[in-house]
Amino acid sequence: MKTVKCPICHKEIDYLVDEEYGTSEYEIRFDDKGKIVSKQTGQDLEEENYYCPKCDAPLFTSYEDAVGFLNGEEIRKDGDTYVLGNGEEDEE
Ligand SMILES: [Zn+2]
Repeated sequence: MKTVKCPICHKEIDYLVDEEYGTSEYEIRFDDKGKIVSKQTGQDLEEENYYCPKCDAPLFTSYEDAVGFLNGEEIRKDGDTYVLGNGEEDEE
């Protein structure tokens, strides 16, 4: 089984905790017959976080980055989380 090192706690891990959550906005009101109705007024916002199972640090927000990391690809810090590091920064 393939293991990778968490960039925060440096422990070896072979999976990430995937947490998904979303929010929606609704209006509820009484209609003119006195019946309560609800109507969605805002878009569903779905977010996803991938956590280290050892230190609970949120590492990734995209599935591709999380899978790439587990596959041993280079990562780099991007704000509060990490992204795959292929691209501009070549360390040679
Ligand atoms: Zn960790």
